[in-house]
Amino acid sequence: MLQGIAVSQGIGLGRVMLLEEHSLAFDFSRSGGAQAERQRFHLAAESFRTHTARQVEQLRMCAGYEDSLILESHIDMACDPDLMDQVDRLIDEGACAEQAVQEACDGYIEIFSQSHDELTRLRAEDLRDVRSALLSILLGVEKPGLCQAPRGTVLVAKELSPSVMSGIDKENIVGIITETGGMVSHSSILARALGIPTVCGVAGAAAKLQKNSFVIVDGTRGEVICSPAANVIADYNQRREAFMAQRSRMKYFINRKTLSASGEEYSLACNITMPGGAARAAAVGADGVGLFRTEYLFMNRQTPPDEEEQFAAYTQALEGAEGRPVTIRTLDVGGDKNTPCLALPQEENPFLGLRGIRWCLANPEVFSVQLRALLRAGAEGSLRVMLPMVSALAELRQTKELLAKAAAQLTAQGVPHRAELPLGVMIETPAAALMADQLAQEADFFSIGTNDLTSYIMACDRGNPQVAELYHPLQPPLLRSLQHIIRCARQAGIPVTVCGEAAADHRMLPLLMAFGATGFSVPAGELLELRHVLSHWTLKDAQQLARQALDMDSPQQVEALLTEYQEEE
Ligand code: PEP
Ligand code: MG
Repeated sequence: MLQGIAVSQGIGLGRVMLLEEHSLAFDFSRSGGAQAERQRFHLAAESFRTHTARQVEQLRMCAGYEDSLILESHIDMACDPDLMDQVDRLIDEGACAEQAVQEACDGYIEIFSQSHDELTRLRAEDLRDVRSALLSILLGVEKPGLCQAPRGTVLVAKELSPSVMSGIDKENIVGIITETGGMVSHSSILARALGIPTVCGVAGAAAKLQKNSFVIVDGTRGEVICSPAANVIADYNQRREAFMAQRSRMKYFINRKTLSASGEEYSLACNITMPGGAARAAAVGADGVGLFRTEYLFMNRQTPPDEEEQFAAYTQALEGAEGRPVTIRTLDVGGDKNTPCLALPQEENPFLGLRGIRWCLANPEVFSVQLRALLRAGAEGSLRVMLPMVSALAELRQTKELLAKAAAQLTAQGVPHRAELPLGVMIETPAAALMADQLAQEADFFSIGTNDLTSYIMACDRGNPQVAELYHPLQPPLLRSLQHIIRCARQAGIPVTVCGEAAADHRMLPLLMAFGATGFSVPAGELLELRHVLSHWTLKDAQQLARQALDMDSPQQVEALLTEYQEEE
């Protein structure tokens, strides 16, 4: 058995097809003169754009809109004026088109790969893909084609690029094994979107697995079983069927109401990072978008998006949501969210520094652009605004003043907008939790950010393995604070949802129900399962469980209690 990283759930049984890499070596001394080489490069770039645009269309149909954007971004990369200028300059200095493309791309790839920001590192992966596609066109090398892969193929490769992924026929490819890659690589995101069981990071897979040999890919456990015996095949076939049956049972929950077993209704929305995600949320029957993390619009670029671009993004999200409410969180930068285009200050302790709403209020010229775009988009659909990292009532009040000022400006300029947008607060600092009763008097809704709240309540970093044990969603101090926040919101008569990772944690669900949460916002892939789990709990059972959980003194005790309950069910 080979062990790797489980990146796309499910079980695939089939025969190995090794994806061969074609050599992209070229003769450095081949330049046919600057003019001819420039022309070759521009023709190659044009051919790349046309071909990729076709692939984007195909991918949109099988993987959905938001995930097809991964490949669409390759077109932007290949058209990037700085990159194109650099290639032209290198050609003018005597390089052939291939060498110029390689050197120009490599320069950026090196910078991107060294970034601390995960998204920027992902751009290096994409640019490597663009580089090899451009070189393949220039050298007339056919990129590995997958259209002839027979039914029941398990694809094995050192590395899979998003462009190769987009050529996959999900009817024929039943599993994927790669030597590199991880949970968040773009190819893995596409594998999940296509629903193909995938295991990444299997060292030496291409050498260890023989062409046409029979293998089992367990994308749930991250395992590859080579040449399995008949009884193992039978066992995995059964597990595969059970998995498929479970997946299709989940389809029942598409476009259903989110109801507990005792009939209470909850709102169940999606968390998104790009405007296209709203359409995906609508497709799985979400009650709109509960958290649009707008800082993603500001990442990986040299200048911040202007009012028009933001307006277009928010409007696109509203259109995608088809009339359902879209909750847009204002810019949440600082901490681990680096956005070079905003030149954030160097801080000794950025998690306790100028984060979220603090940064926005300190930079009203940037914040007001976003507020104007939100007010304008508000006229186009059901839009709600939400503030991150609030730790004082004054921050909510100051934002209201800025909103009023921006609305007055728009009125004076005769620009259509909606002045009275519902304005909510994210409760993700202990200060906001403790002041929840007062905040609830002035906010239109609460959304609890359990990721940060856990971190700040427990005074531990969410990404630090040394304190990982403390960072636990079932920590008694967190449970007490959730109960308090939700109670304050309910007493003030405002909706209170949970949008951190804990909202998608099945163990937390009955506790949050019992505390009185009115809704949840989770990644689109988690939504149906959550609706299913919720439908099994009566409010009375959840309350009984919560009463006991609140008496526990450690997360392990709470966990044991929850397991006991599940076993009794
Ligand atoms: C949170 O902190 O729980 C949250 C939803 O915000 P983010 O993860 O974007 O910081
Ligand atoms: Mg947060």
